Amino acid sequence: MQKGHIGVTTDNIFPVIKKFLYSDNEIFLREIVSNAVDATQKMKTLASMGDFKGELGDLTVRVSLSKKTLTISDRGIGLTAEEIDKYINQIAFSGANDFLEKYQKDANAIIGHFGLGFYSSFMVSKKVEIVTKSYKDDAPAVKWSCDGSPEFTIEEVKKADRGTDIILYIDDESKEFLEEARISTLLKKYCSYLPIPIAFGKKKDWKDGKQVETEEDNIINETHPIWTRKPSDLTDEDYKKFYSDLYPMSDEPLFWIHLNVDYPFHLTGILYFPKLKSNIDLGKNKIQLFCNQVYVTDSVEGIVPDFLTLLHGVIDSPDIPLNVSRSYLQSDSNVKKISTYITKKVSDRLQSIFKTDRKQFEEKWNDLKIFINYGMLSQEDFYEKAEKFALLGDTDGKFYTYEEYKTLIKENQTDKDGNLIYLYTNHKDEQYSYIDAAANKGYNVLLMDGQLDTALISMLEQKFEKSRFTRVDSDVVDNLIVKEDKQATALAADKQEALSEAFKSQLPKIEKVEFHVSTQTLGENSSPIMITQSEYMRRMKDMASIQAGMSFYGEMPDMFNLILNSDHKLIKKVLADEEEACQAQLIPIQTEIDDVNKLRNTLKDSHKEKKDEEIPTAEKDQLKELDNQWNTLKANKEGIFAKYATDNKTIRQLIDLALLQNNMLKGEALSNFVKRSIDMI
Ligand code: ADP
Repeated sequence: MQKGHIGVTTDNIFPVIKKFLYSDNEIFLREIVSNAVDATQKMKTLASMGDFKGELGDLTVRVSLSKKTLTISDRGIGLTAEEIDKYINQIAFSGANDFLEKYQKDANAIIGHFGLGFYSSFMVSKKVEIVTKSYKDDAPAVKWSCDGSPEFTIEEVKKADRGTDIILYIDDESKEFLEEARISTLLKKYCSYLPIPIAFGKKKDWKDGKQVETEEDNIINETHPIWTRKPSDLTDEDYKKFYSDLYPMSDEPLFWIHLNVDYPFHLTGILYFPKLKSNIDLGKNKIQLFCNQVYVTDSVEGIVPDFLTLLHGVIDSPDIPLNVSRSYLQSDSNVKKISTYITKKVSDRLQSIFKTDRKQFEEKWNDLKIFINYGMLSQEDFYEKAEKFALLGDTDGKFYTYEEYKTLIKENQTDKDGNLIYLYTNHKDEQYSYIDAAANKGYNVLLMDGQLDTALISMLEQKFEKSRFTRVDSDVVDNLIVKEDKQATALAADKQEALSEAFKSQLPKIEKVEFHVSTQTLGENSSPIMITQSEYMRRMKDMASIQAGMSFYGEMPDMFNLILNSDHKLIKKVLADEEEACQAQLIPIQTEIDDVNKLRNTLKDSHKEKKDEEIPTAEKDQLKELDNQWNTLKANKEGIFAKYATDNKTIRQLIDLALLQNNMLKGEALSNFVKRSIDMI
């Protein structure tokens, strides 16, 4: 027997392996099994090139457990004593401490960086043995053994078959890796698609109510997963089955895309557009990344474009430098190419489905749009492709491309300045009456109730020329699309005041809500009363709620317009009744107001040419006094309107109906409304 010292340039690799890599220690199994697979594949290559003339025999890699050990055996090329010395004993690495500090949470990075695949076994073992016999005829079998110190022993042994057994003496803290269920789960996670059969024990059968082992190997992997096969050899069922193997609890996917590139990098894979049941599903199942069929990770950020991380499926590429840090990945030029390629493939595929089967595309649009809209929002090159097949849906459930929609509304929805007005609703039921009014004018209304639609609207306004999006309830229907400057046939100012003040006085107090009351002439067939919120204010508030630094808008109350239609007979009647009831009290006040105004105006006129210091103090005081008088008189007048309004059930009823229509009538106000309505029937 020979003894030696493992050639590490830093003090001692083992404490490092144990201490830093603990969190991710399960990957040792992936490393050891994939080494076995590599050695087996090399064997097959040698045979196929004629460099090995013997029998290949059964090439299954076997994983087995005993009370204290976990063994991985292969019938690959094996190792000679010299090769052990060269590949196992000499681990040279420099700058290790810095690197380890930085990546102590990322075992993948460390193992990859130093080529420590085999040594990761020491994360879970107190002793590791390699019993191996090279395929080379004259090489004796050897046993290498190391107990986790830099000392190892190596000796010749007897071994019948070619290949390697890696025997791990699992340490006391890692007993879980002696449990069948745990190993089974790990093999499933990391080894399900390895290209050489992996056997873990024997298949089990039920016999007389008991589980018994059969003769048959329990092969845990699929050696030819569908992404490695030709699309022309596969059916839809194959793709669906693979999807449900990957994500057993998920609904059938909407579409899939089979990726296959040879140049300038190697990449295969299948991406699925999932059907999401809710937002919670977003990001739950992830794309799995493989390197030559070895599972590596399911965090693909940085490798595929951001919006595609929402997709499901697998990507397999030996050209993605997997064992490096994320920030390195993002700047790697291969990775950038991969990302561009995948984006292009995805958009090409969507484009082709749209072209060949538009009906299917439309049916799935509501499930698809989250991916497509997100892609368009986050990636310019995707927008350029997707604008040809992205759809807009209207309130009747019809779908249009951007171009088609433009043509549809051009005629009827262009305003006097030549802007195309896209009307939309974000709530079909709540905004029903507004949608109805718009439809009656021959307008089309888009349904924009998706979670990305607010952002999409802002983007489209920038992309489309001379176009604006306006929510149907942001103004009375006549003002939504202003086609010509209207001649104001407004009500006389004093009548407007009488109406506005009466309604204002009866508005319920709602927290953080303010109303601006005004009258408009909207024709006798339009609603008598309406609540609108300006597009601008609402967007500012919406943005404030998702963006930092805009809290100014967030703190502001919601401002609504309460619009009275002075052409409607109910409003006319309120005004007539009000004028009649208040006239007697108003006349003396109005006379006083007129007098005050006259005096005030004369005084102000005489001050016009003078500088402030030239105006006598007495006159200044008089002006102040007049202002006070005016304010008092005005308040008196408002008081008269308000007092009248208190007893006018029509006013309250109209206000409540408007609130009700906008989902703003709640609590006590709602119950009062119901009582009053019953009284009035
Ligand atoms: P890497 O696989 O990244 O080269 P490892 O530490 O995992 O690093 O393995 C070092 C070397 O040991 C391998 O390159 C291979 O030559 C050899 N080796 C490891 N496992 C086996 C095995 N089961 N059969 C034959 N050779 C092996």
